[in-house]
Amino acid sequence: MIQKIYMNGKWQGEDLDHFEIVNPATKQVIGAVPKGGKNEAEQAVEAAHTAFDSWSKLPAQERSRLLAAWHQLIEENKEEIGKIMILEQGKPLQEAIGEVSYANGFISWYAEEAKRIYGETIPASHTNKRIFVQKQPVGMVAAITPWNFPAAMITRKVGPALAAGCTAVVKPAEETPLTALKLAELAEEAGIPAGVVNVITGAPQEIGETWLQDERVRKITFTGSTEVGKRLMEGAAQTVKKISLELGGHAPFIVMEDADIDKAIDQLIGSKFRNAGQTCICTNRVYVQESILETFHEKFKAAVQKLTTGNGLEENVDLGPLINEQAIEKVQKHLDDAISKGGRILSGGNSFEKNKGLYFEPTILSEATDDMLCMNEETFGPVAPVAAFQTEEEVIQRANNSPYGLAAYVFSENIGRAVRLSEALEYGIVGVNDGLPSVPQAPFGGMKESGIGREGGHHGIEEYLEVKYISLGI
Ligand code: ADP
Repeated sequence: MIQKIYMNGKWQGEDLDHFEIVNPATKQVIGAVPKGGKNEAEQAVEAAHTAFDSWSKLPAQERSRLLAAWHQLIEENKEEIGKIMILEQGKPLQEAIGEVSYANGFISWYAEEAKRIYGETIPASHTNKRIFVQKQPVGMVAAITPWNFPAAMITRKVGPALAAGCTAVVKPAEETPLTALKLAELAEEAGIPAGVVNVITGAPQEIGETWLQDERVRKITFTGSTEVGKRLMEGAAQTVKKISLELGGHAPFIVMEDADIDKAIDQLIGSKFRNAGQTCICTNRVYVQESILETFHEKFKAAVQKLTTGNGLEENVDLGPLINEQAIEKVQKHLDDAISKGGRILSGGNSFEKNKGLYFEPTILSEATDDMLCMNEETFGPVAPVAAFQTEEEVIQRANNSPYGLAAYVFSENIGRAVRLSEALEYGIVGVNDGLPSVPQAPFGGMKESGIGREGGHHGIEEYLEVKYISLGI
């Protein structure tokens, strides 16, 4: 595992202070990476800015070929990347390997899209004029990514950026830099030229501020908390950078009385407990129509009790540890609050320590009400609050009563109702009878305070392209 900063095609930073990376399942130190700051942030921009000139002028076929070579190497190193990810992030083996495939899907999708950046011609109003519209890369891009998807949040940004002809500087989360550095190592091996992708580890605020102030950075793309996202949006105003934000969510999961309950529960288990509840599209609130509540509780409890919690490296583990102590404290705080307001624990409800790793049991909280913290703020842990509702109108109103608008889920076998609900929900992603909607070819992103812009699919590459209008007199 390389544990250095990757800038301008060189591995560096040995002389800087370092910070340690800790395995959340054992609390063992698994590595240490340089603590880059303002200098490194500036040097990375310099490298990416210089590389932009030649990278943006390469024929799309050539950029596509290099992305495809990177994809091939990620595929060949899937197991190794997955193991690094488990060590620094804690997710179970199957999920880690699954994330690498998902992450790599963005590289292959955008290797293809690079070749399909089409322009337009528009009829002119004068015989002696022609109107052409051309797409050009926005310039060099800064990407800041979170710890919960250490590979996919990078490829989902860097894939379309490189395909469009942009170059990138990336700052991965402090908790999970090793996966990012492994991806950079493979990019180098694939022959992606020096300066096109740069990964720097270090002080978030200092690096972020440096990039915000630098006018050469033409776009900031960020996945993380709403609080930091708002700060970046404010900072980007100084030089009017383009901005894409994928922030927090508070996903409602609605089960109508005409739903296939077994299917709903199967999908809910994935949606709620994947990555131990630490994803921005994880279900946060379950709304079940009153007439099926009892059956739903029974079946949900039986399914949750089959889940196993443990070190992600072991076989057959469904939930790994939470990322750190604050994560456990937040889950506990949300549960205590819910219980004080009349919630009841139907299953789980406890945190525990195993080999120094901190875990939280998959938990069902029944009799949830909309005044509880867990029904309004992201818990980012394995707690499923279940609330009853009576009518379609009521559940739409309650589901939309949130500052967030990332993902929502609807389960109903009545097609008219499913369509009505999916159209009425103020969310960027709606899973209808589907709890796991994320795929490389579809647009992922939120409404309201969940963000700006879309990642994935042909929509995702537009975020890295400027539209140029050329008016030609003939
Ligand atoms: P989380 O709560 O999921 O850790 P954060 O928004 O704190 O979410 O972190 C997401 C990413 O943003 C990480 O890479 C983190 O280092 C970075 N980050 C945190 N604070 C700042 C900041 N002030 N400026 C720029 N990046 C930041």
